[in-house]
Amino acid sequence: MTRQRLSGWGRTATAVSDLVTASSVADVRALVARGEHLAIRGLGRSYGDPAQLRGGLVLDNGDLGGISAIASDGLVTVGGGVSLDELLTLSIPQGWFVPVTPGTRQVSVGGAIAADVHGKNHHVDGSFGQHVTSLELVTPTGVVTASPTSDPELFWATVGGMGLTGVITSATIRLIPIETDQVLVDTERFANLDDVMAAMQHGDDNYRYSVAWVDCMTRGAHMGRAILTRGDHATRADVATPQLLAPRPPKLRVPFDAPSGLLNPLTIKLFNEAWYRIAPKKRDGEAQSLSTFFHPLDGVADWNRLYGRRGFVQYQFCVPDAAGETVVRAIERLSSSGVPSFLAVLKRFGAASPGYLSFPMPGWTLALDLPVGPSALPDVLDDLDEMVLAAGGRLYFAKDSRLSSAHVATMYPRLEDFRAVKRRVDPQGLFTSDLAQRLHLLGK
Ligand SMILES: Cc1cc2nc3c(=O)[nH]c(=O)nc-3n(C[C@H](O)[C@H](O)[C@H](O)COP(=O)(O)OP(=O)(O)OC[C@H]3O[C@@H](n4cnc5c(N)ncnc54)[C@H](O)[C@@H]3O)c2cc1C
Repeated sequence: MTRQRLSGWGRTATAVSDLVTASSVADVRALVARGEHLAIRGLGRSYGDPAQLRGGLVLDNGDLGGISAIASDGLVTVGGGVSLDELLTLSIPQGWFVPVTPGTRQVSVGGAIAADVHGKNHHVDGSFGQHVTSLELVTPTGVVTASPTSDPELFWATVGGMGLTGVITSATIRLIPIETDQVLVDTERFANLDDVMAAMQHGDDNYRYSVAWVDCMTRGAHMGRAILTRGDHATRADVATPQLLAPRPPKLRVPFDAPSGLLNPLTIKLFNEAWYRIAPKKRDGEAQSLSTFFHPLDGVADWNRLYGRRGFVQYQFCVPDAAGETVVRAIERLSSSGVPSFLAVLKRFGAASPGYLSFPMPGWTLALDLPVGPSALPDVLDDLDEMVLAAGGRLYFAKDSRLSSAHVATMYPRLEDFRAVKRRVDPQGLFTSDLAQRLHLLGK
């Protein structure tokens, strides 16, 4: 056991916790049998405080390894601590890709299921948990194998359940076949938010993957100008030299914390401007590697240190389709407040997963990276919370570090169903976290 100061990727909330490891179901059972409160941690890529417990015990899932052979239908069984990076390193050369990937490969399978992560293909393929056929879970009341057909309540409470139902020691996932390690990408620049949203609404269904980078620092006629990239896996016939290469480790690393003022309205505005100008006005069918298309940020290790010691907030919300206007008003509020924001990520969500606490709902999602520091930031975010609530939307637990507990039951109407399962498998409420306590996820 080691005592460590833990934080999420945004480095806003820190907690000193006792970190322990376990490499087998028996180890995890022995740990749970101690009867102490316990949080679970994967690779710490959540932005806020779900993978830490102030003054308490935290299980680091990193030793829960193992990857099975990949079956001919794509099924693979992996340990809860296996990272998507490790899985892809093995699977891509064999012609298989993960069915859903977040913007980084540096997440564990346990963390991907616990947050029910989504990717650029949510409008087509849904979220990660929808491709998990079964999972093994160590709860205080025993070791269970849950699937959408055997104990679906426990399965869907665990998918998106932020590590609060028990430890996912392994899971079986259905991978998707790929013929090459390239994606054929169409890129288009839009001068304002209305135009890019219209293009996404009418054209995204023609692509498996779609995402828009939105500039939230421009006002007036160019408010929300954006670069839209959409694509599909390239077939062997699409590229000159088809190959299936594993992703490469990052070549660059940010070696120390940047001065806190480095990312200020001026530098961020300049960055956003350059990003917009460099993008082609329109380019179709460009072959990009899987890493360039899905995980561009993984090229630089520890990039969160660029935000300095104060860290940054990632604010991600989703709203139903009919409330697309909320995206416009949120960006208006930001761009008029002077609060700097890096290029925001705008995506469309398809049908929701049955996960009780899963984040996506059909409609729009916007994710904003906001350096901590500007005095207006807390008020702006409180205003955004109200807009999202009024629109029937919600915030993402995997990104949150500041939401008020008062809003949670409205944003997540199946919270009571989740709590009922939690009481069944963990009657003493042993599994918890700073996030669970801050947001009263387990009741008061
Ligand atoms: C650059 C970047 C891009 C991202 N892009 C996206 C994106 O596009 N879409 C998206 O959905 N998310 C995205 N995320 C968020 C990230 O995918 C999630 O936060 C994910 O949960 C992180 O996995 P992790 O292994 O780091 O888990 P941690 O952050 O360590 O933990 C996350 C949650 O999982 C629980 N958990 C971890 N392991 C287990 C286990 N074995 N059993 C049970 N519970 C467990 C923890 O208790 C915690 O509640 C991004 C994050 C970064 C840093």
